[in-house]
Amino acid sequence: METTDRGRAMTDAQLRELSDLLQEIVVTHRRRLRRQQESFRTLPLHDRSSARRRQLARRAAMTSFRVCGAASRALDALEDGSYGACDRCGCAIAFEELRARPLTRRCSECDPS
Ligand SMILES: [Zn+2]
Repeated sequence: METTDRGRAMTDAQLRELSDLLQEIVVTHRRRLRRQQESFRTLPLHDRSSARRRQLARRAAMTSFRVCGAASRALDALEDGSYGACDRCGCAIAFEELRARPLTRRCSECDPS
């Protein structure tokens, strides 16, 4: 992918820091996923309040699953050198932005939220 030099190239230390952050996200959400699956499994099937809790656990598990996948893909991208390129304009996303939101795929100009 073409990148412009709006963001500076990252140093090895910065890349390591981002890699650590991403791995932490994967570990945290895998742990959450296991916990949610466990609570899902142990809730009794036939009462209304546990039906609601099962629904919430399922939703939370889906979020963790999605975040886990996004972090794993980001780690792959970090490996192959494509991490940190805005998927809209192609510029290099600034390190500070990536540190604040490691899963972001757009620069602050393309996604000013
Ligand atoms: Zn952009």
